[in-house]
Amino acid sequence: MPIWCPNCGAMLAEGTRECPRCGKKLAASDEVEEFGATEILRLSFYALKYLLLPVLLVVLVTAGCYFVFFAR
Ligand SMILES: [Zn+2]
Repeated sequence: MPIWCPNCGAMLAEGTRECPRCGKKLAASDEVEEFGATEILRLSFYALKYLLLPVLLVVLVTAGCYFVFFAR
């Protein structure tokens, strides 16, 4: 499983001690892996948020259209 630099977000090989892009010293590999999992969770949360918002909007607009259609 790849890991990411907490400073610049570069993808790093597992067990990397220092980021080759920004030179940030990385802590113990366990800590870095934990950060990677947290980052994936955070990205999933954002993806869910930005996927749910348009879907909710479409549902609301559709419900509004039905309401207007049947009110006539
Ligand atoms: Zn970096």
